[in-house]
Amino acid sequence: FAPWTDPTKTPLIRFENVVKRFGDFTAVDHVSLDIYEREFFALLGPSGCGKTTLMRMLAGFEEPTEGRLTLAGEDLAGVPPYRRPVNMMFQSYALFPHMNVQDNIAFGLKQDKMGKGEIDARVEEMLKLVKLEKFAKRKPHQLSGGQRQRVALARSLAKRPKVLLLDEPLGALDKKLREETQFELMDLQMDLGMTFLIVTHDQEEAMTVADRIAVMNNGVLVQVAPPSVIYEQPSTRYVADFIGEVNLIEGKITKAGPDETRISSPVTPFPLVVTQTVDCKAGDTACIAIRPEKLRITLEPPVDPTENVFEGEIWDIGYLGDLSIYHVELACGQRIKVSQPNLSRMVARPISWDDKVWVTFAPHAGVVLMG
Ligand code: ATP
Repeated sequence: FAPWTDPTKTPLIRFENVVKRFGDFTAVDHVSLDIYEREFFALLGPSGCGKTTLMRMLAGFEEPTEGRLTLAGEDLAGVPPYRRPVNMMFQSYALFPHMNVQDNIAFGLKQDKMGKGEIDARVEEMLKLVKLEKFAKRKPHQLSGGQRQRVALARSLAKRPKVLLLDEPLGALDKKLREETQFELMDLQMDLGMTFLIVTHDQEEAMTVADRIAVMNNGVLVQVAPPSVIYEQPSTRYVADFIGEVNLIEGKITKAGPDETRISSPVTPFPLVVTQTVDCKAGDTACIAIRPEKLRITLEPPVDPTENVFEGEIWDIGYLGDLSIYHVELACGQRIKVSQPNLSRMVARPISWDDKVWVTFAPHAGVVLMG
């Protein structure tokens, strides 16, 4: 039933044709998805695409309008949030301001009527886990943003849920701390052997932390795959454009071979060749998605006859230290981006504004997208 399930694996979480409507607005539209034990899974998409709603249904804060949601084989319909082996950490952290760190962490355990000795041991374990042993007696306002985030994490993990749901967990942190914390989260997830489900609109964050990413748009799952597949083989223009930088070269299929697709386009009088089997026929509208770093730029005409090539003129150059981004205007008027590493300053002549250049790419470097 689902395009994103692996029949050889037993899912921990299964969304089966799940729909969520608010009045006549459909926030989640027939989502079918399996998430496996010990996976770090990311839901990625622009604001309002339905990521949080999907997660809230798993936590039990919303019920699906249609479809079925199971966890370890158990149907979750009607199971209240506190009975689900799932805990959610909110972007706001929702710490109790009048309680110190250890009381914040112990809160859920006390509600569950756990014995005092056991609570103390668990709180100590959690403080150690998030490296906040020295901060046990501090109140939230006496902590930095990163420390507050770790308290919230410790509190969410204290009850040892099967699944931890993280709703934009690093949104309040600055870039450097955010990057550090991403690696801490990955370590923690590996050490605990737990399933983490993270909601984010930050594609770099999803690429860094996740084993698999689900890209969502308008309540629908567009592609579910490991980060490298999402980046290297996006299934639609939307995914190609949403993740990283991409050039889209529009055209028409001229030959649909078994291992090779040829496309005519305004960027060159010659057909562009991509080594990919595509379900298409001559005359179909298509485009080639190509990442800026997979294009090469030269001041001399290229010699390799197997490469795709087009001519253009440098319109702008962005120097980023480790690499430069070249904006090239092609004869047809389309502008494309090429990124090249700045490996050596000892080049014969650097490329500069208004230079006439040749841009090439290997047939295996592009991806044909239909429609
Ligand atoms: P963000 O990244 O901004 O949090 P999101 O992808 O998580 O966005 P959701 O919060 O899941 O998006 O919301 C999806 C859509 O459903 C939005 O258009 C939102 O306005 C709508 N929505 C969410 N909750 C409700 C509700 N309780 N009542 C009505 N509409 C809602």
